[in-house]
Amino acid sequence: MYEGVVQDLIDELGRLPGVGPKSAQRIAFHLLQADPTDVRRLADVLIEVKAKVKFCSICGNVSEDEQCRICRDPRRDPAVLCVVEEYKDVVAIERTREFRGRYHVLGGAISPIDGIGPDQLRIRELMVRLADGAIGEVILATDPNLEGEATATYLTRMLKPLGLRVTRLASGLPVGGDLEYADEVTLGRAFAGRRSADD
Ligand SMILES: [Zn+2]
Repeated sequence: MYEGVVQDLIDELGRLPGVGPKSAQRIAFHLLQADPTDVRRLADVLIEVKAKVKFCSICGNVSEDEQCRICRDPRRDPAVLCVVEEYKDVVAIERTREFRGRYHVLGGAISPIDGIGPDQLRIRELMVRLADGAIGEVILATDPNLEGEATATYLTRMLKPLGLRVTRLASGLPVGGDLEYADEVTLGRAFAGRRSADD
């Protein structure tokens, strides 16, 4: 449709999540008209983020070091672990200031349609973390949708025999949605009112 590199840019932008062909075109033309310094800054940060950012060797969170800020923080409660699907969920829960324990990032949710089973998630790493018995409660904070529910049910079955307290977030979260889109008050309340995964 467009010539050479302009079309390449539109194609690349269109591969980003949530960016349809129309938005890709709009962003491309915005960049074409933008100040070269601004575009350079965007390009630099894209390169830099890939070079610098790693994943925490303990929890799987995004980190600039071998271990993330939360895993390194001695003030965090080592006995409570919150299991989430993605890094963005950690950010959402941190915003509520309701949780003082540590996290485990699964890297997604069980979704047979997308070919994602337990083996594709960081469940083995989770079981290793739980092996020494230092963690007494696991909060399953997966998304309130089909995949999130399936993941929580699977994990409950895996974790119950370990004799841990396994809890789920209280209802009130928008069903079918993403954890990250819940407002801070709702998510904070869901945390405070968490219940045993048996119910
Ligand atoms: Zn970590």
